[in-house]
Amino acid sequence: MNEAKDKMKSYLADMANDELEWHKEAVCAQTDPEVFYPEGNTTTKQAKAICKICPVSSECLEYALSGIEAYGIWGGKTATERLKMLPLRKIGRPVSV
Ligand code: SF4
Repeated sequence: MNEAKDKMKSYLADMANDELEWHKEAVCAQTDPEVFYPEGNTTTKQAKAICKICPVSSECLEYALSGIEAYGIWGGKTATERLKMLPLRKIGRPVSV
């Protein structure tokens, strides 16, 4: 999962450069980032619970879908769940958190 860790580093660098303005309100910024990149049998439950109370979950999901983030929990959705949303985006239907 080195690719996932590289993505996380890139994401954290973006945040440090203020390229993700919305992330200033992200609840995950105050938690362990590893929770959002579960491996093996690790559950996604904790990350999803955090995303559920996050005020910028829509922005986060949009960012992940536009960048096609291949790993991790973004906007409360797993990579598999986000992949299923992509066809809806292509036909102009809104995606919801
Ligand atoms: S929705 Fe989840 S992953 Fe996205 S910024 Fe909020 S807490 Fe972080």
